[in-house]
Amino acid sequence: MIKLNDIEDVKSSENPIVRQMSLMGHEQVVFCQDQQTGLNAIIAIHSTVLGPALGGTRMWNYSSELEALNDVLRLSRGMTFKASISGLALGGGKAVIIGDAKRHKTDALMRRFGAFVDTLNGHYITAEDVGMTPHDMEMIRQETSHVSGTPKSMGGSGDPSPVTAYGVFMGMKASAKFKWGSDDLSGKKVLVEGVGHVGMNLVKLLSKEGAIIYCTDVNEERLSISSSEYGGIIIENKLAYDTDIDIYAPCALGASVNDYSLSHLNCEIIAGAANNQLGDEQRHGQILLDKGIVYAPDFLINAGGLVSVYSELKGYDLDEVMSKTENIYNTTLEIYRKSEVEGITTHLAAKQIAQARIDRGLSE
Ligand code: NAD
Repeated sequence: MIKLNDIEDVKSSENPIVRQMSLMGHEQVVFCQDQQTGLNAIIAIHSTVLGPALGGTRMWNYSSELEALNDVLRLSRGMTFKASISGLALGGGKAVIIGDAKRHKTDALMRRFGAFVDTLNGHYITAEDVGMTPHDMEMIRQETSHVSGTPKSMGGSGDPSPVTAYGVFMGMKASAKFKWGSDDLSGKKVLVEGVGHVGMNLVKLLSKEGAIIYCTDVNEERLSISSSEYGGIIIENKLAYDTDIDIYAPCALGASVNDYSLSHLNCEIIAGAANNQLGDEQRHGQILLDKGIVYAPDFLINAGGLVSVYSELKGYDLDEVMSKTENIYNTTLEIYRKSEVEGITTHLAAKQIAQARIDRGLSE
């Protein structure tokens, strides 16, 4: 059973790993090492109650093994909630490869990693994440069939970002319906922070809807596309949170809803794609609730990409992917009602709904 509040990092105390797995509800953690290729990786299977544990592989230059372990434990647990709240027959998993993607990555290392994934016989299914490329996925695919979210050139479903953006758009519309009684976003002032793969697709949808779009990014080229193609108004990064807006859409990095941004932001809704937006899930979630800012839980409204990757496993069905992603609208409203009735943060309400589905799965 997963305990919703037992999140703490692994400390270097006695038997830290199994204890932490038990606190966070992990089923299995696999440490992979290969001297020949220099591979050091950790695969965390958080839950297979609802289906195989799916989640991307991240290659990152972690400063320590404990940092890598904490990351993979948190990320895999997040995938369980994301799959469950989205109604998918999937569990949660994640893998990290420890190393500098620019210096340590080789085809042999990727293939060796794929061979490790294969030993798990489909209990864990991998996909692309930070530090990985379509070419890496191709190498992994040579050793295992337990890979999803691959490029169209490899027979996969391709870039999931447009579907992710559609889900965020649906979550944003549901938030508007809850806050203002109408889900029409025309004339609403939306700040999109990060106009990358998801952010730019979101800008496109908002532009069609007639919203007034403010864009901020550290990449000038992306900003100029958002402005020339979709009429985005460019806002200097450091002034972004002081802009007069209705909706803030974080689509860049995590933890952007923090003490600093909350002391500057003047908005009524937060709905974006970034993972782990709340710097502190409980404290910042509560501040949002107290301020009356409607917060759309990130792991729900950014799940469109996962829905797409999941569909690839069964033979891609675009209509089904879009209708499941559209349903993010209804789930978002369900979470807001629960949050209102029970006086709990929307983040906790979403987690409880996800947990309830897993518990039902356990008893079946
Ligand atoms: P991306 O790398 O394509 O885009 C991120 C953008 O943010 C880039 O344009 C980058 O320049 C910008 N950025 C970086 N630092 C910034 C800063 N300090 N201020 C403003 N802008 C900054 O990534 P993406 O695929 O669009 O994903 C965006 C977010 O959504 C990430 O947090 C990702 O984890 C999450 N997410 C993505 C998907 C998906 O389908 N791609 C699915 C779920 C969640």
